[in-house]
Amino acid sequence: MGAAPKQVTVSLDRTGVAIIGGGPGGLAPLLSAHRSGRLAELLSAGVTIVEKGHAIGAGTIGHWAINSDSTGFTFADCLAGPPNGELAAAREHETTKEMVAADQGTVPLHRAGEFLAMVGQALHEVVANAPRGRILRHFQALHTQRTPQGWATRLKDTKTGREHTLESNNVILATGASQPRERLVRETVAGVNLVERCGDRLVQSGDILSHAGFENLAQKLANLGRAPRVVIIGGSTSAAAVAFGLLNRMPEVPWGPASLTLMHRRELRIYYPTVELAKADNYTEFGPDDICPVSRRVFRLAGFRLDSRELIMSARGLGGRPPEPRLQLHRLNVDNAASLAILDAADVIIACFGYRPRGLTVLDLEGNRVKLMSETSPQAPLVDGYCRVMDADGNVLPHLFGMGLAAGFVPHGKLGGEPSFRGQANGLWLWQSDVGGMIVDAVLAPRFDEDDPSALSQLDQVNATQEIEA
Ligand SMILES: Cc1cc2nc3c(=O)[nH]c(=O)nc-3n(C[C@H](O)[C@H](O)[C@H](O)COP(=O)(O)OP(=O)(O)OC[C@H]3O[C@@H](n4cnc5c(N)ncnc54)[C@H](O)[C@@H]3O)c2cc1C
Repeated sequence: MGAAPKQVTVSLDRTGVAIIGGGPGGLAPLLSAHRSGRLAELLSAGVTIVEKGHAIGAGTIGHWAINSDSTGFTFADCLAGPPNGELAAAREHETTKEMVAADQGTVPLHRAGEFLAMVGQALHEVVANAPRGRILRHFQALHTQRTPQGWATRLKDTKTGREHTLESNNVILATGASQPRERLVRETVAGVNLVERCGDRLVQSGDILSHAGFENLAQKLANLGRAPRVVIIGGSTSAAAVAFGLLNRMPEVPWGPASLTLMHRRELRIYYPTVELAKADNYTEFGPDDICPVSRRVFRLAGFRLDSRELIMSARGLGGRPPEPRLQLHRLNVDNAASLAILDAADVIIACFGYRPRGLTVLDLEGNRVKLMSETSPQAPLVDGYCRVMDADGNVLPHLFGMGLAAGFVPHGKLGGEPSFRGQANGLWLWQSDVGGMIVDAVLAPRFDEDDPSALSQLDQVNATQEIEA
């Protein structure tokens, strides 16, 4: 047997910012720059987008066979910006008009995905035509290592297997998120280990929310020949989305009264655009800390919206909604024996514990692996309040940013959001406006010494958007 061929690493031209992952999170800073008329400035600093798939824009959002929990308008609003902005032509596209027409209503996520793919295509042309812009498709980032000047990211061309090194001043990690099995096996509910108790009756929300996931489950439940007993565990958007999908996408399943149980730890909050509208519905379970100080919206971040909102309002008997007898709500940590009885009787249990950031392997100057904050506990964020990636001790890794699903950014200050909010804010609109803007500010700011306290005040200069849409 001959010796294995020596791996040649090709160095790519240095860039200002390397965006790792060309999904909605990765493109958000570019869309934010376009919104504020700074896209050309950002591109002139040098931008390379690295995407392991065949196109930038859509990421995974279109895989989900459910409706959006953000409005059609907020999707279309990512093209906002100067009238003659680089993306102006995309505003006239058919899918943009479809999003605009949906206005304050929901849209199927596969259509949102097609819209974002179109936006990605438009951005692709703008970036590829910029003298210092570059798009590397079919390139997978393997790790990124700190250098005296910034970061060196190792990439693999998935078509040829060749490896490349991309040097950059800044890196934005936007590699999306997953539902790791290792986290699931540690979950306890009602005092027992969930995996041990439920065995192969237990699945995760990501297994169900795709077209194939709904179809397979519908067949399995229909084959029971009786009303099924399904438990959903979780109080978040995806838990309610799964419940809505089960009850509305499976006509062949003979759901009976209380066939579906939603087990939740937290209160199930309802979003209202104003305090007045909440009061008009006799919805009073909120205080000053539950109102966004910027938009004055009630439970702006924690509240259910659109389809999920309607379902939870029906199940809770709120706002005069028609009852939904097929769905029962069950609060956890009140009566463990009752919770276990429901779990044990279930045909299928769907865990909706959210997502964990994929991030990327990060190495220090000497090539040692850096343990990230997100690796320290099942809830720990990848980033701080300025989207900066943190090591396990909470130290900021300079010029390394994180963006997108489950990165763990929580809006604050001028960005708004109710002070009582705990959890992740995963709406695209915020990333494409002020949150992305924060990264653009940091990337375009003169480079600074990390020990210099004025560095933070530079980042503090967030341009709060005039009108809060989401
Ligand atoms: C069920 C569900 C419903 C949602 N509904 C909404 C909604 O209604 N409204 C809303 O605003 N948000 C919604 N979100 C949240 C969010 O907008 C989407 O999850 C969105 O897809 C997140 O974008 P992302 O770029 O972070 O991740 P992804 O969409 O997963 O994109 C990540 C990209 O990175 C690439 N990548 C990954 N690793 C590498 C690597 N090592 N090298 C190179 N490329 C890599 C992938 O190929 C992919 O293109 C929803 C999320 C979920 C899970």
